[in-house]
Amino acid sequence: MNPEQLVQEMIQDSYPGLRDKKVHVYKGGFGTLRGMAVRIFNWYFILIHPEELRSPKENLIGFFAHELCHLEMNLKIPWSKKFFYTIRYWTNMKVFAKGEKATDRCAIEKGYGKALYAQALTRPERIGKNAKYYLTAAEVKAYAKRIKKWN
Ligand SMILES: [Zn+2]
Repeated sequence: MNPEQLVQEMIQDSYPGLRDKKVHVYKGGFGTLRGMAVRIFNWYFILIHPEELRSPKENLIGFFAHELCHLEMNLKIPWSKKFFYTIRYWTNMKVFAKGEKATDRCAIEKGYGKALYAQALTRPERIGKNAKYYLTAAEVKAYAKRIKKWN
């Protein structure tokens, strides 16, 4: 399966803010950096660790649901604030954790709760102690049920 095609389908289904954007998918990452969403002016891309690309489709959907939420949420940050926002995001782990958990909730709100759950179940083995910056599988399930998106 072509990951760029999967991403385009997900954008059409669930990410109205990204419908007029072309989001590229590139293989990249190392160690526990498994994925990243980047926007440089009109160049949008998602980096995915090659090992992630080999995971089941459900997990891949969970992965991209989270990364696409980053891209769509970042559209709301004004350019004037982007530089300091980005620095703070990557240097203040409290801010990072808050942002990553909000991004997980965004993916659940868009209906990808079960896919994110599959992804969250394997996070500890994939990214070790960094999993603490994200929702646990149990938290994903609980939030999805609470907002009636667990179907
Ligand atoms: Zn993230």
